[in-house]
Amino acid sequence: PGYPPIDFRAALNDEQFNAVTAPPGPLLVLAGAGSGKTRTLTYRVAWLLHQGVPPGEIMLLTFTNKASKEMLHRVHDLTGEDARRFWGGTFHSLGNRALRMFGESECLKLKPNFTILDAGESESLMKRTVEAEDKLFFKDKTNPKPGPLFNVISLSRNTQKSLAETVSEHFPQYNDIAVALPTFAKVYAEAKREQNVLDYDDLLELWLKLLTEDPKVADYFGNRFRHLLVDEYQDTNTIQSQIIDALAPHHRIMAVGDDAQCIYSWRGADFANIMTFPERHPNTALHRIETNYRSTPQILNLANGVLEAQPAGRHFDKELRAHRANSMKPYVVQTMDDREQAEFLVKRIRSLVEDDGVSPNEIAVLYRSHFVALETQLTFSRTGVPYQITSGVKFFERQHVRDLVGILRFIYNPTDESAWHRIACLLPKVGEKSAHKIYHAALDHARLMQQDFIDALTTDDVKSKVPKGAKDEWPSFCASLRQTADAMREEPPQVTVEVAMDGWYGDYLKGAYADYMDRIDELTALSGFAARFDAMQDLLAQIVLLNGETSDRAVEPNQEAIKLTTIHQAKGLEYDIVFVIGCADGLFPGRRAIEANDVEEERRLFYVAVTRAKNELYLCYPKIATKAGPGGMLLTPSRFLQELDPSLYDALRIKRAHGW
Ligand code: ATP
Ligand code: MG
Repeated sequence: PGYPPIDFRAALNDEQFNAVTAPPGPLLVLAGAGSGKTRTLTYRVAWLLHQGVPPGEIMLLTFTNKASKEMLHRVHDLTGEDARRFWGGTFHSLGNRALRMFGESECLKLKPNFTILDAGESESLMKRTVEAEDKLFFKDKTNPKPGPLFNVISLSRNTQKSLAETVSEHFPQYNDIAVALPTFAKVYAEAKREQNVLDYDDLLELWLKLLTEDPKVADYFGNRFRHLLVDEYQDTNTIQSQIIDALAPHHRIMAVGDDAQCIYSWRGADFANIMTFPERHPNTALHRIETNYRSTPQILNLANGVLEAQPAGRHFDKELRAHRANSMKPYVVQTMDDREQAEFLVKRIRSLVEDDGVSPNEIAVLYRSHFVALETQLTFSRTGVPYQITSGVKFFERQHVRDLVGILRFIYNPTDESAWHRIACLLPKVGEKSAHKIYHAALDHARLMQQDFIDALTTDDVKSKVPKGAKDEWPSFCASLRQTADAMREEPPQVTVEVAMDGWYGDYLKGAYADYMDRIDELTALSGFAARFDAMQDLLAQIVLLNGETSDRAVEPNQEAIKLTTIHQAKGLEYDIVFVIGCADGLFPGRRAIEANDVEEERRLFYVAVTRAKNELYLCYPKIATKAGPGGMLLTPSRFLQELDPSLYDALRIKRAHGW
């Protein structure tokens, strides 16, 4: 109806065309990376419009809001249709929209002016409600702190499993307190209700409740949205898959996914949802696409090799055929250490940009965890390579890195009151005001008695200023400052960093963050960085300078820059040139996956990484770990590399070109 003609045959291959033009009904498109799944969804929307379906009847569920915007933008290019007339976005954003419309329903009785708590606010609310229920709970060091507690309850909501099951399957370390959890979940839920606030999980949970308990709402969605399209279906968790099913009693769903790319099971994603889709939606038409349009045959062969190494049975067999012309093989690049790895990137990137005319925007450096990228960030800053971190925060701006640097700064210069505030406020119940009081009490005492500031902290005068809630932790806090100060006087900076992170702050991390192990890895990277300095003042000065430098270099939105990103955040995206760094056992797959003897999700992550590359792929690993210092720790190449047939890549060994 009034749309410009589109040559669907020319834009799509036969497999894609058949999926795009299939009659309405349950459609499952299962295909490997880069085979045009997202493209198929986009053309499906255009096709539906061509069939006379009004845009208001189409709902598009994607993994990020940005992905949905891009797809609808493309639909706009194809048809001229106004993207705002579709419902498109993430489960959370559409859940929010649904609750704004129907929150007052009898089954929810939300007041219309409800607000949404962010993750930090949700955790503090949980902390307050649990404390009101059990004053001593967080006092006991063996109990989880509010963050981890929140994660357990959240995972059980997302997987729709009982708290008992969630604990025994995912958090056996909390077995002892499992019985208390239902009560905690309940008081937290009551507090939200009283305050008329929702957390992220509510956006899904309450949307599902509306759909299943209020027939009016179910009718509204069922009648209004006659066509549902879902990208990255392999990463939906139980509650999301139930929402999809409840939204589409008519079964007109097109779901596209790749079980080999399921990388969110730690957040409850379950690719069993793909396997059971045909059971839940009778007469599902299964479509497969076997041509890959993204990558060169050589990159694809390597990707296929990664999948072949999977143990049999837990996946659909998939072999991708390349559409593109032959090119060069991927490189496996061995360097001496992290610094050299970063140097290699700089050299190679310079030559790609300056000699080959590649746009920096088309180059990505991918890694499994943030800490692996520290050296790359430092080297790019130092050598002026423009870069953009598309996921997360720059290394030295991360909370725990700033905390630890705060500890070092304070001990180096106890008159630095802002450093004191940063660390003192980490203690329970200590805010700016009490931090200030404690500080000045200690300062007065130290002056009067001509005593060391840190020793003054343990005197009765000062202790009386410490809020009750912090009294238990106070001795270990002070002892740890003392040890760190002693180390700073006698040991090199690297040892000082290690002493600081092993003390009170290490315990704090454990309690404060469910992902504390990753954060400890990052602090270990900081200690590796400290190994380059003989004096603490040089280390601290360098960190300040780097911070200034990195923010100076913060690129304008449209300035061209290399993308630095975790693999999770690169999902669905593609780049001309991809460097995967840190491909060594213990880094990728990570140490904990190896210890738990479960590397399959990591292997899928590796598959996601290599399939982002269109033209050139570099898999890099250092021979010596960051922690190095004197002596160092030898690494072996990732098992994912070792499993590959060596004919799939060219091996490069970079010899140290010059010293530092
Ligand atoms: P992923 O699994 O990584 O999400 P995908 O299956 O969604 O990948 P797309 O991103 O849709 O794949 O497509 C990969 C690339 O191949 C895109 O650049 C897309 O434009 C191109 N492509 C896909 N199909 C065709 C086709 N029939 N003709 C030309 N180019 C195509
Ligand atoms: Mg895609």
